[in-house]
Amino acid sequence: MTFAVPLWPQPSIRISGDEMRFPVRRIYCVGRNYAAHAREMGADPTREPPFFFMKPADAVVADGGTVPYPPGTSNLHHEIELVVALGSGGRDIPESEALEHVLGYAVGLDMTRRDLQNAAKKVGQPWDMSKGFDNSAPCSAIRPATSIGHPRSGTIALSVNGAVRQTGDIGDLIWSVPETIAYLSRLVELAAGDLIYTGTPEGVGPVSPGDRLEGYVETVGEIAVTII
Ligand code: MN
Repeated sequence: MTFAVPLWPQPSIRISGDEMRFPVRRIYCVGRNYAAHAREMGADPTREPPFFFMKPADAVVADGGTVPYPPGTSNLHHEIELVVALGSGGRDIPESEALEHVLGYAVGLDMTRRDLQNAAKKVGQPWDMSKGFDNSAPCSAIRPATSIGHPRSGTIALSVNGAVRQTGDIGDLIWSVPETIAYLSRLVELAAGDLIYTGTPEGVGPVSPGDRLEGYVETVGEIAVTII
């Protein structure tokens, strides 16, 4: 097969302890999945159905990388998140079988143009340009479930220039990982290569060029990026 323009590189991220990389197919993100963060965003954290948005696969940035401050915003926010990497997929996946599709877990940042998102919310416009911009999805190496299992609790935290900004516990996810996979698979067919950013705890806030972001999820790993 020949193509009319040069093929672009397959986006991928590292897998800890493995020479092979994880090819990224799609990036799904869950909104408002911790009660305290839902409240800080002015929403009611009652268990509303989960809702999803997406980022382009080539928005991933490796651990240790740089995130250029994006155009079109003056309020770029950090959101530290547990990321689920799927090794297989399907439709209508039962919650009881959902974890069988998880290859491993990573630590990600759902970078957000908060000013554009707030403006979009006010007038009912989509979030694509507030969430799905270039370099908006830093992601650590994946820790395989074969080595760490499926963590159900543990600290998730982010610091900026050494000062702690976000702390939470992944046990406080409103929609758990199996529930999220099951729900999402009723809306789209999931597949190997998909990443799911599971939502952020409270404490989101702005970053500036020069800032060093360091985050971790207990037992899963850590990520550090610099805003340039
Ligand atoms: Mn998020």
